[in-house]
Order: sequence, then structure tokens, then C-alpha cells
Amino acid sequence: MTRKHEQPPAATAIPDAVRNYVGGEWASGSADGQPVVDPATGERLADVPFSSADDVDRAVRTANDAFEEWRRTPPVERVQYLFDLKHELEAREEQIAHALSREHGKTVEEARGELRRGIENVEVATGIPNMLREASGTVEDVAVGMDETAVRQPLGTFAAVTPFNFPAMIPLWFLPYAVATGNTFVLKPSEKVPLTAQLIFEAIEAVEFPDGVVTLVNGGVETVDALLEHDGIEGVSFVGSTPVARHVYETAAQHGKRVQAQGGAKNFAVVTPSAELDRAVPNIVGSGYANAGQRCLANDVVVAVGDVYDELRGALVDAVEDLTVGRGLDEDTDVGPLITGASRERVTELIAEAVAEGAEVVVDGRGFEHPDYPDGNFLGPTLLAGVTADMEIAQTEIFGPVLCLAARPSLDDAIEMVNGTEYGNASSIFTEDGGEARQYRYEVDAGNIGVNVGVCAPMGFFHFGGTKESFFGDLHAQGEDAVAFYTDKTIEIERWYS
Ligand code: NAD
Repeated sequence: MTRKHEQPPAATAIPDAVRNYVGGEWASGSADGQPVVDPATGERLADVPFSSADDVDRAVRTANDAFEEWRRTPPVERVQYLFDLKHELEAREEQIAHALSREHGKTVEEARGELRRGIENVEVATGIPNMLREASGTVEDVAVGMDETAVRQPLGTFAAVTPFNFPAMIPLWFLPYAVATGNTFVLKPSEKVPLTAQLIFEAIEAVEFPDGVVTLVNGGVETVDALLEHDGIEGVSFVGSTPVARHVYETAAQHGKRVQAQGGAKNFAVVTPSAELDRAVPNIVGSGYANAGQRCLANDVVVAVGDVYDELRGALVDAVEDLTVGRGLDEDTDVGPLITGASRERVTELIAEAVAEGAEVVVDGRGFEHPDYPDGNFLGPTLLAGVTADMEIAQTEIFGPVLCLAARPSLDDAIEMVNGTEYGNASSIFTEDGGEARQYRYEVDAGNIGVNVGVCAPMGFFHFGGTKESFFGDLHAQGEDAVAFYTDKTIEIERWYS
């Protein structure tokens, strides 16, 4: 099975067409689509045709047909494709990172980083034979001479619907585990960033998975709904905004499917007087402004506890004023553009609303125009102070390069503010006091807690998911939860008389 790697494609080659990958062949969706636009320049990079319900039906049936043989392929053979996929993705790293930066706007370094986190999940899923063994087991003599065994079995075809903000990493939270456990898999990537998925599937084509095991369908709402309602789909993994996560959870469940749906976020960084500010501030600024703030783990409110406020505010201002806004491809860029003009408008309005509610604009990024890229969706890094829990901006996910500074007299008050939102994706505390850290982990209702860590993204061998309105379902993405989500438990009880 080991294959010789072909020469990787040119590092700056952008796919000029976005296609579906069905039954091991490329095909265009038959519905009208939309352009793929470089958010830094406004340049049209390609067009993405959408998939109709009929296109989805054909794709799912092909994936269903591939299931019987794939589930009979021993896990140790299935994971050989993943070893090859890891190498193919690594060989194409520069091309994928370049295209990802062009269609999304993030820096090439950030694009490489997210691809690396995606490949990490391919690596973890190569251990599926052992993970399946750990998830199964036999107890002898449950009655005299009777043994009972629990085994994990694949279910059929799974689908994943993914967001725009991590076009390489998030599809790879799901795809490796779904196929390694013996299912076939259909990906519907974000229509805003389909070029990255196209390149990942070029790597999949090179690996020569059996036809129909891995499928790509492009599209928007109609495509998603066709997947959610299709009787050939056993389960759905979703990542995106909370209203859509709720819709996916409810609709897929109504159609008898398993669902794991990760939604939006509102993440806080609490800083106590014991914190090492020299280390905390770069961490907080990285969390708030990298990826232009378009990260589900971004902390967008910083809560200063007690008398750390003045020093923290001064250090934040210095760090924020130091950030360079630009195109993701330019080496000195820290903060790229927002994904669309509409996103920039939304964030700008959120800032204006905060100001009307009494917030102070300490660093104002509104009105930023890049001299070389006048058509880019840029918003300069913005810092607000005097933000209070009752303001809209303290409750709504900002998803832009904006940090809000709030002041609370005690850690108890800070935790009350953190727990006062409807979301529970991530939360960080910056402290050198172990008791404070423990209280924070114990009392804050969020799926991922960082202690002196601004972006607490779990490794592939740990599960990843939030609480409250940030997650619908029970089994999270990645690691052991992925094995449980993509398999069913079957019991065999046996007794022999001779
Ligand atoms: P989105 O909800 O707009 O889109 C996500 C996916 O859903 C896309 O593939 C899109 O085509 C599809 N979709 C959109 N509207 C739909 C509808 N009405 N019906 C059916 N499908 C629909 O999200 P986005 O803007 O691409 O991503 C940003 C959001 O994702 C943020 O809220 C962010 O916090 C969240 N996110 C969460 C996590 C997490 O782990 N919890 C990770 C990344 C992003």
C-alpha cells in the first residue's frame, strides 16, 4: 500500500474550479453557487457550484454502496490510508496554507498551524485498532459458563458540515475517525472557503481510498438540509454558529440520526493581581486578535480583577498598537481581514452599540484602510474599556479583532460575569495562585479552561466540545469521543454446551 509521493504541486497554485468528489471522481454541483473571494483584495478566486438535493442523494448513495466492503476492511488496513494521507497533506502543506490564506485571509503561518492541528487528528486516528480494542471488552462467566462481549461497530455513512474559520483543521476533526472506524464519510465544507477542502480532497484522491469511502459535496443551506434529511446518513457532525447548530441538532435528530453540533462562543480571560503580566498580555492579545478574532476559542472580554486594572490596561494598549494589519500572505501581518464586508459591518456596529451603552474606545480600528488593499475587509485592532456585563458586546460573540476590558473587584465577581453568558466554549484565567486557578476550573461552566493559556485547544487525543449553547449533543469531537460517536455498541453473550 505504501506509495511513492509524487512531486507536490506548486506552492502558490490555487484550484481554478471547485468540484464535488463522489465515488472517486470529480463532478460539479448542479445548482447555482457563489464566487470565492479573497477577503484582502476582493479578487474573485474561483466559483463554487452548489449541490442540489439530487446531487446529495447521488453522493450519499455512492457512499452507502462503499460501506459494506469498507467495514469489512480490517482496521489495520484502513489506517494505512491515513498514514499515506498524513504524508500527502504534509507534502502539500505550502500549497494548502497558501490557498487557505488567500480564501480566508489569515496569515500563512496561522494556516500552516491549523493544518498541523488537523494532521494531528489523522495521526491520532491511525491508532484506531488500539482505540477500538480499548472501547470493547469481554467479561467471562457473567453466569456459569456464559461470557459476554461488547464490540464497537461502524454504522454506515456519516456527514460533517463545517464553518469558514478553520477550513483545514475542522474537517480533519471528523474525517479520519469516521473512516478509520469503518464508516464512509461525506464532507460539506463552508461555501466561503471551499478551496482548502478541494486541496485536501486532491490529497485524498492521491491516497487512493476505495471509491465512495470519502466524499465531498459543496453547497449552502439546501445542501446541508438535504444531508440532514437523507435516510442514507447515520449521523452528523457540525461546527458553526449556535442558531445553525441548534437547527442541525434538531433536524438531524428528527430524522433519526446521531448528532454532535458545536456552536458559537463567548470566551473570557480573567486576570488576577498575581498574574505574570509580561507573559499574560502577549497571550491575551494573541487569543483576541490572531485569525482576526475569528476563532471559537478567542477570548474577546478581558476581566481585570482588583488593582491589576491600570497596569493591564497600559500593557494591552501598547501591545494592541503594535499589531500590523495586512494581507495574510504578507510576512509582517499580525491581523488579516474579516471574511466578508458584512462581517466587518456587523462588528463595527457592535462597537458602536457598545459605545452608545457607555464603553470607552481606547484603541479605535474603525475606518482602517490598507494603502495597498483598498478593497479588503479590514478592521483595525480595537480595544474597548469600561465594558460591563449588561452590554450587548459582553454577551455576543464578536468574531472580529476587538478586545473588551472589564473591571471586577474580586474573582467571585469575575466568575459571575463569565458564567453570565449563554455560551460555554472556553475560558482562561491568568494567575500565579493555585487556589484561584482551582476555583476557576471548578466554578466556570465551559468545556475548555485555560490556566495561563489564552487559546485552550485540546490535542487530538483529547475530546473537544463546549457546554451550554456552545454544544448540542453529548459525544464531543476528537479522541475517544470520536470513536464512540462513530461506532455502535453491540453485545454478544455466548455459552457453549460441548
Ligand atoms: P455558520 O453557522 O454560518 O456556517 C457553518 C456551516 O453551516 C457552513 O457549512 C454553512 O454552509 C452551513 N449553514 C449556514 N447557515 C445554515 C442554515 N441556515 N442551514 C443549514 N446550514 C447552514 O458558521 P460560520 O460563520 O461559518 O462559522 C463561525 C461560527 O462557528 C462562530 O459562531 C464560531 O464560534 C463557530 N465555531 C465553533 C467552533 C466550536 O468548536 N464550537 C469551532 C469553530 C467555529
